[in-house]
Amino acid sequence: MRSKPFNSFPPQVCFQEVPDEVSLAFTIFGCPLRCPGCHSQDSWDPQAGQPLSDERFGHYLQRYRHLITCVLFFGGEWHLEALEAKLDLAKGLDLKTCLYTGLERVPQRLLRRLDYLKTGAWQAHLGGLQSTVTNQRFVALATGNLLNFRFRENNHAAA
Ligand code: SF4
Repeated sequence: MRSKPFNSFPPQVCFQEVPDEVSLAFTIFGCPLRCPGCHSQDSWDPQAGQPLSDERFGHYLQRYRHLITCVLFFGGEWHLEALEAKLDLAKGLDLKTCLYTGLERVPQRLLRRLDYLKTGAWQAHLGGLQSTVTNQRFVALATGNLLNFRFRENNHAAA
């Protein structure tokens, strides 16, 4: 069954957001959390961007498949069925899957479809994944291992 599309920016290939993976990242519009100091306020409007239908998503996966090992969603958990459908399509191509969410937890039906999960709202005084005092957690779900330390390594490398 086709899922209702949600809107996204065109995807980008990225190298640091998921450790040891080359990811195709989709930013989904309409984040309802409104974290103070959010760096992605241009993604709050659910009407912005273009509809990411299952067909369009599938075309992107085919186009980038030879380059990537993972598909990453910045948000989208507020459209549960649409996100599930996309994750199933990615899994069908043997790609890893990751979700960045500002929530503390997500439904089991999403966890089943994810390899990596970043949780926690943006809190400027605590910082992001590179910070030692952050409230955010990046977890490899198969092992339950917390991978925040990998982001601190990247931070040192870039400094
Ligand atoms: S969860 Fe992320 S995108 Fe949503 S408001 Fe918070 S910082 Fe911004």
